[in-house]
Amino acid sequence: MGHTEQRTSADGGTRRAGRRVLVSGGAGFIGSHLVDLLLARGDEVTVVDNLSTGRRANLPASHARLRFVEADLGQALGAFGKGELFDQIYHLAAAVGVKLVIDDPIRSIDTNVEETSELLRFAVTHGPGGGGSRVLIASSSEVYGKASHSPFSEGDDVVYGPTSVARWSYACSKAIDEYLALAYHRKKGLGVTVARFFNTVGPRQVGEYGMVVPRFVGWALAGAPLEVYGEGLQSRCFCDVRDVAGVLPAMLERTETAGGIFNVGSDQPITIRALAELVIKTLRSSSEIRTIPYAEAYAAGFEDLQQRRPALTRIREAVGFAPRFELEETVRDVAAWMRLHGEKR
Ligand code: UDP
Repeated sequence: MGHTEQRTSADGGTRRAGRRVLVSGGAGFIGSHLVDLLLARGDEVTVVDNLSTGRRANLPASHARLRFVEADLGQALGAFGKGELFDQIYHLAAAVGVKLVIDDPIRSIDTNVEETSELLRFAVTHGPGGGGSRVLIASSSEVYGKASHSPFSEGDDVVYGPTSVARWSYACSKAIDEYLALAYHRKKGLGVTVARFFNTVGPRQVGEYGMVVPRFVGWALAGAPLEVYGEGLQSRCFCDVRDVAGVLPAMLERTETAGGIFNVGSDQPITIRALAELVIKTLRSSSEIRTIPYAEAYAAGFEDLQQRRPALTRIREAVGFAPRFELEETVRDVAAWMRLHGEKR
């Protein structure tokens, strides 16, 4: 680490010098797609990732403007020198999904809360000229808790289950991140923006943390039954990761988004049964659909949300967000990625 990084202007002088950008969790699913975009626009990118769920192979093997630091975030921030400045910081390092939180609650809560706190403290003095960086904090639609209304708007009240049910610790840890981010904005003047990600799908997402699309695609490719939980009438809105990653730099370019919370995702719902049918049809699979009672699918006490749809008014007004990828196209691209990487689920 230290100051040994290269500052290559690989653009041949056709663009202005790129921004210095830090991406925590940059080897992960959403982070790696963001890094692709930042490198393409000429930025100097530092990725910090402990590869707990991220993969080094998600990033270019070598690139003149990419520095990869394999470490826990707190450790990496502590090792960065005083003069290590970043114009922008995207904080995407987090425990992935509810399943991981139920399996390993201590580590997940620590990761989500402590690292965000450390990162915000760091950001206050590591921006241009030693001032604040422009920061994006990744949050989650889980923050909406067990609401049954639709759509979810950023200013809605929220209801969580009791603290004895581990599932809700994920929502609470992300809510704490949001409180912290907004407090840093108010108290320290930090230019921080919160993105609440809804169901995000696409190449590089793996099924082992329970996410439905890579699981269905993996089964469809293998000719195995697609396991639909409950009746499959619950619905979600799936947004392609390339659309999600694409809007994040635009959010940080606008000063008006500082101190704001924004839903990021698609607002086109599909039931899980219809999703299973779409995957089978799109991939011309011989797989069948098998319904699995909730009691079998999850530990007792798991509550699935019947629907989850974002209101996108805020982000549309702020940055004109309009997703480009159709779900069929995403499913085809996920399948192509899995075939290439031998992913079965
Ligand atoms: N789901 C399913 N089969 C699976 C995995 C998930 O039917 O193998 C369902 C799950 O019950 C939920 C939906 O698909 O209703 C989306 O699940 P995911 O974990 O991808 O997202 P989240 O529930 O966090 O929105």
